[in-house]
Amino acid sequence: MLYYLLFAALRRLGVKGVEIRKPEQLQSISSLIIPGGESTTMAKLAEFYNLFPALREFVQMGKPVWGTCAGLIFLANKAVGQKEGGQFLVGGLDCTVHRNYFGSQLQSFEAELLVPELTSKEGGPETFRGVFIRAPAILEVGPEVEVLADYPIPSNKVLYSSSDVEIQEESAVPEKKVIVAVKQGKLLGTAFHPELTADIRWHSYFLKMASDLRGATSDDIVAVSEA
Ligand code: GLN
Repeated sequence: MLYYLLFAALRRLGVKGVEIRKPEQLQSISSLIIPGGESTTMAKLAEFYNLFPALREFVQMGKPVWGTCAGLIFLANKAVGQKEGGQFLVGGLDCTVHRNYFGSQLQSFEAELLVPELTSKEGGPETFRGVFIRAPAILEVGPEVEVLADYPIPSNKVLYSSSDVEIQEESAVPEKKVIVAVKQGKLLGTAFHPELTADIRWHSYFLKMASDLRGATSDDIVAVSEA
C-alpha cells in the first residue's frame, strides 16, 4: 500500500513511478526510492529476486536513492537490533541504524520535526510532521553524512522517596537526540514515512536532488516494491 501512496505523491509532482521487482529493471531507471515495510522480509524478497548486487551497483554508481524507514535500514552500512542472524543490507549510507529504535507497532507516533534544509529549499511551514511506524533511528553517522533532522527524546522524570522525607525531583537527565533524516551525496534517508502525510516537500526535495544530477526533471523515479 505504501508505494501506491508514494506514487500518488510523485504524481502530484508530475512524475510517474514504476515498481521494480527484478534486477534488470534497474538498468532503465535513473533514481530509486526504497519505501518502508519490514526490512527482514524485504531483504528475503530482494535476495530471492537476486536484487542485492544490482542495488549495490546502483548506489555505487552515485545514482540518487532515497530510503524511507525500512528503506533507510536497507541503505545503512550497519544495522543493529536485528533478528538473530541479521539480514542483508544494500549499504552505501555511512551510518549505523537501529532497526526498531522506537519500539513496536504500538509505540508508533507522530512528531513535528524541525528540518531547516527542507524549509530553506522547499519553503512552507517550519516543521514537517513525521509519521514514525515501528521506526528505526540513526545512532551514528560518518563524516560525509549531513544530518537533516533529529528527534529529541523527552527526558525521564525520576521520582524517589524515603521513609522519613518524601522527595520528588526532576532528574537532570540531559535531553537525548536521535537522528531521523540524513543525506550523503545522492543518498537520502528518512526514518519516518513522508508518503503518509499530504506534505510532499520531501518528495520534491528528492526529485530536485535527482534532477540536479541529470540536468533535467526526472520522469522515471521508481520504487522497489515493499514486502
Ligand atoms: N522497523 C521496521 C523494520 O525493521 C521498519 C518499519 C517501517 O518501515 N515502517 O523493517
